[in-house]
Amino acid sequence: MNAHEFRRRGKEMVDYVADYLEGVEGRQVYPDVEPGYLRPLLPTAAPQEPETFEDIIKDVEKIIMPGVTHWHSPYFFAYFPTASSYPAMLADMLCGAIGCIGFSWAASPACTELETVMMDWLGKMLRLPAVFLAGEAGEGGGVIQGSASEATLVALLAARTKVTRCLQAASPGLTQATIMEKLVAYASDQAHSSVERAGLIGGVKLKAIPSDGKFAMRASALQEALERDKAEGLIPFFVVATLGTTSCCSFDNLLEVGPICREEDVWLHVDAAYAGSAFICPEFRHLLNGVEYADSFNFNPHKWLLVNFDCSAMWVKKRTDLTGAFKLDPVYLKHSHQDSGLITDYRHWQLPLGRRFRSLKMWFVFRMYGVKGLQAYIRKVAKL
Ligand SMILES: *Cc1c(COP(=O)(O)O)cnc(C)c1O
Repeated sequence: MNAHEFRRRGKEMVDYVADYLEGVEGRQVYPDVEPGYLRPLLPTAAPQEPETFEDIIKDVEKIIMPGVTHWHSPYFFAYFPTASSYPAMLADMLCGAIGCIGFSWAASPACTELETVMMDWLGKMLRLPAVFLAGEAGEGGGVIQGSASEATLVALLAARTKVTRCLQAASPGLTQATIMEKLVAYASDQAHSSVERAGLIGGVKLKAIPSDGKFAMRASALQEALERDKAEGLIPFFVVATLGTTSCCSFDNLLEVGPICREEDVWLHVDAAYAGSAFICPEFRHLLNGVEYADSFNFNPHKWLLVNFDCSAMWVKKRTDLTGAFKLDPVYLKHSHQDSGLITDYRHWQLPLGRRFRSLKMWFVFRMYGVKGLQAYIRKVAKL
């Protein structure tokens, strides 16, 4: 496909997408297909000779669409919602066109810098404490992760490194293995399964704190678990509080849990994956009170803020907690500005090396809706 054909096909694709979304209500929301439906409909191997765009697009309707679950149908009530808007889709197209891999500042300065500014914009929309914002001369900052699961894992791994180094500094004889054996993370029994998974991947114990009658984690239950475990010689190091749990949208009591974490010097991560978008409305902002106690905070604009998957917004109070935990500097990734203190190399903030230009989606959406438009959208959905 050359640029000439791309112009034509691109316009056709935009029409196809607009037709699809305008008519999605008329499609059956959950497909009738049986497992394995697709294989017999496809050739057994990739074609040797090139095929035409027409043939492919015909097969989208014939083969793919019958097996699609239509998440944007108004009749879709499964799981949680996932965000979608035309500005975000167009921005993603541009992201594909630029096609940069923005792992460091030098790898694409705009990719890094727009992300930092967009995360500050979004943080201000939520009225996050200024310590979480990069532009406030503080030590914090935001990063776009692929998913809330990654954000929780990154936070857990950073906390694990931090506590390990701290204990080793105090007792140089301690091995990492001895420490790891004793580390304990906590989350309420209502926390998302990705939290338990972070514990599994991170190789640490994760204990479920029994929630109260309103499915909230409270001070007493957490304190009890911490005391019991410390008495047994274990080392509490990480707590995940959930704002808006997956099963019933309950809220852990941050104002109780936060001070305990501070007192015990335990990393507090706040997972507001689904509900977090609502905090841009002043009338819902009180649900975020207590975030000032958190070391890291995360929510998914890709669930409820009109930015298509993937866009999971994560902030930390001390960016050196992440960069200090995950930094490696092979010679082929070095660049002349990296130690200037003026730039961010996001590769140190995440698990993969490569990263897409995802902040374009935020930029397009924030500008085309405005904060007022986004608030109006949240209010429309939240209306009881
Ligand atoms: C949806 C959800 C997750 C998982 O989100 P991913 O971005 O898919 O990893 C985690 N925690 C809560 C509270 C959620 O609602």
